Amino acid sequence: MNRPVVYFVPPDRALEGIGLMLERSGFLRRLKPKKKLGLKVHFGESGNSNHLDPKFVRAAAIAASFHNLQPVAIETTALYRGKRQNAASHVALAKEHGFGMENTLTPIEILDGDHGEKYYEVRLDSEKVPVARLAQGLRLYQYLINMAHFKGHFVTGFGGVLKNLSMGLAAKAGKLEMHSHSRPYVEAEHCVSCGTCVEYCPVQAINFVQYVAQIGRSCNGCGGCLAVCPQGAIRIKWNAASGTIQTKMAEYARAVLKDREAFHFNFLLRITPNCDCYPQTERPVTPDIGVCASEDPVACEQAAYERVKAHIDRLYPHLGPEAVMEAAERLGIGTREHVVEEL
Ligand code: SF4
Ligand code: SF4
Repeated sequence: MNRPVVYFVPPDRALEGIGLMLERSGFLRRLKPKKKLGLKVHFGESGNSNHLDPKFVRAAAIAASFHNLQPVAIETTALYRGKRQNAASHVALAKEHGFGMENTLTPIEILDGDHGEKYYEVRLDSEKVPVARLAQGLRLYQYLINMAHFKGHFVTGFGGVLKNLSMGLAAKAGKLEMHSHSRPYVEAEHCVSCGTCVEYCPVQAINFVQYVAQIGRSCNGCGGCLAVCPQGAIRIKWNAASGTIQTKMAEYARAVLKDREAFHFNFLLRITPNCDCYPQTERPVTPDIGVCASEDPVACEQAAYERVKAHIDRLYPHLGPEAVMEAAERLGIGTREHVVEEL
């Protein structure tokens, strides 16, 4: 069996490494010129400055422009309350964090509508995820560069390229499906009967019962009401177990990669205990390690994980974070075995 190559550069060569690794792989040369190329980035929550440095997005955009491609920084809205919850405040936050066109040379596109409600379905015929619900705007992107900041995560152990593809490109409905077994609910004591959610719900699933909004059976789990409620009264149960979430993430990554060409970067820089959705700048758990990159997302994830395994195991000894890579390999997305080429 031919093992996939994972390229690696140390931290002091991280920036020049972007173009080097892309060129070495030949990935960009194989793409049709003039097409859109999505650079999947997490812009970081307000108060968190450990997110990916915008200069890496700029480097990828420059590499893409040499091949006459049209790079666009792409993202989706978040499930939790915060500035990343709606498209408009998400774009404003991205610019605050330095991802404006003047720095990155790319426009920003939030792919799942104003409130994360717009999705399209990919049939997977799997038991856990029969149909994946991906951000609607992703349909226009046949090519992706997956730029993941590798860091710890209190539910999955860590987040890297597979999480950036799956949670990162699912619409709210898909994120909800991965995180929770149930539809949203209204916390009665916080509902002020304003009617915003009732008016908003695309399937009229919300009604008032004794002046409190209540979500009914026809809810399709799109998650939009979580974003529109001005009181934050609509919640979800974060109740899926880690192993189940990881398996669903692998299924969603499969859905994203179906009929798409992608190249994956794991940035092992400023590795924090929690993810970039966390609204604080945490102290890294280890000095910077470098950047791993590959056309095989499973190999890229495995190579990155092996370099920080001791720290992740210490942070989250009760989680089995390798489950996502095992599931992804089982689903045929890639292989954990690989060879490392240091540039
Ligand atoms: S938007 Fe929020 S506060 Fe307004 S009715 Fe719905 S749940 Fe209640
Ligand atoms: S009640 Fe369900 S279908 Fe309606 S907006 Fe909320 S999540 Fe979407």
